Amino acid sequence: MRPETRAVHPRRPEPTGSTPITTPLYQTSTWIFDDPDVLADAFHTPTGPFLYSRMTNPTVRVLETAVADLEGGAAGLATSSGMGAINLVLQASLRGGDHVVAQRRLYGGAAATLRDLGERFGVEVDYLDQATPEALRDALRPGRTKVVYLETISNPTGYVADLPALTAAARAAGAVTVVDNTFATPLLCRPIAHGADIVVHSLTKYLAGHHDVVGGIAVFAETARYESVWHHGVEFGVAADPFSAWLTVRSLQTLALRMERHCANAAVVAARLAAHPAVERVHYPGLAAHPTHEIARRLLTGGYGGTFAFDLAGGRSAGTAVSKRLRLVELAPSLGGTGTTLMHPASTSHRQLDEAQLAAVGIGEGTIRISVGIEHVEDVWSDLEQALA
Ligand SMILES: *Cc1c(COP(=O)(O)O)cnc(C)c1O
Repeated sequence: MRPETRAVHPRRPEPTGSTPITTPLYQTSTWIFDDPDVLADAFHTPTGPFLYSRMTNPTVRVLETAVADLEGGAAGLATSSGMGAINLVLQASLRGGDHVVAQRRLYGGAAATLRDLGERFGVEVDYLDQATPEALRDALRPGRTKVVYLETISNPTGYVADLPALTAAARAAGAVTVVDNTFATPLLCRPIAHGADIVVHSLTKYLAGHHDVVGGIAVFAETARYESVWHHGVEFGVAADPFSAWLTVRSLQTLALRMERHCANAAVVAARLAAHPAVERVHYPGLAAHPTHEIARRLLTGGYGGTFAFDLAGGRSAGTAVSKRLRLVELAPSLGGTGTTLMHPASTSHRQLDEAQLAAVGIGEGTIRISVGIEHVEDVWSDLEQALA
């Protein structure tokens, strides 16, 4: 062979039988086959040989298996973003004319997706202002309600869903419960143990946790549902990229340590904000005054999360002034990373909602969402204190 050809076809190392200590990064789009029949068969199942990275990839599979294991699920399906996981699960579970019940307090992107499914595809959506089992039972339409959509800890006002009661009501009506567990992570809550059928995550937040990955995952209680959504995902084309999966697998090793510190720091910051004269209200489920504190105490283990909202007495202008004075804490529209970040939901994560819709989910012009990082808590508090002064 000539150099041009040899450059394209480097020799692969012979398999030695030894195993690397870390997860290898399979940065490959496709696999090579000796047998055309084996290749043809591989298209039909996620459990056969790897063949194309929109369908399956070994690095991505390590991530999927690890998160499914943490969540106590049968299988995971990683996606290119949290919104990719949410859209994939909803579109694979619904068709025109179906009915969905969702809690009103939702991540803005999920709310926008449900609105579009309603407006463009004829899916009917009812929202629960109070996500109580009684309200859910009233909203369910047995036979027509296909999905009940919840967040373990709602973004950003920290409402904790009474998962055992809500999933039992959904199941009795034949609906599948989908729970966004992004804020809690499987360290604080494992929704499948409380009856959820599908758990979704924005891996972008705590699971990847270092502000450097955008990713998502859906975890399924049952293998059959995973396989059916996997087929849809191959068409949908929202597969996770191997390098993002690799970074996330690396991050999972420190998830427990990071969550412990996020939760401990957030508890301190929430209590001090609640006592601060510039702050009107703190929406942190770990505080006794939060409307869902009792549910949070019952369902969450090891802490109340690292992200929550608070309302500044001075409204939006106070929020703008505070964010301009910050020196350590960064103004950034994400959460769950190692560094403390804050932002203004009404103009960012929940921009899709109009004023009335914002009021219905407890977000005002003076509401700030803070994601407390893993720095020394006194450095975080000093910065907030000087900015609030
Ligand atoms: C950020 C977020 C999402 C969307 O995730 P992306 O990775 O940004 O697509 C979904 N749900 C919750 C609760 C989030 O905070």
